[in-house]
Amino acid sequence: MARIRGDIICEDCGTIGFATTKVAGVFWVEMLLYIFGIIFAIITLGFSLIVPIGYSISRRTRAVSVCKKCGGKVVKVDTPRGKKLINDMGFVEA
Ligand SMILES: [Zn+2]
Repeated sequence: MARIRGDIICEDCGTIGFATTKVAGVFWVEMLLYIFGIIFAIITLGFSLIVPIGYSISRRTRAVSVCKKCGGKVVKVDTPRGKKLINDMGFVEA
């Protein structure tokens, strides 16, 4: 019988333990905001930098854990939903 190694289970492919953090938003948009922020910082006395910094923060606060293998939704194995998935897939809790 398979033993659990990891702390998450993927709802889509059933993989246990492989989660990666997916940051929300788009990288080049963030870069573009920084470039314009820096250019206009001289005119706006640095206030234009609030926009890219705010975007950076919002990207990271909206980051979600996804399956490393398929990018699917993951749940913690110690939650009722995670335990149910593990049971359904025939894994034994370590
Ligand atoms: Zn998956």
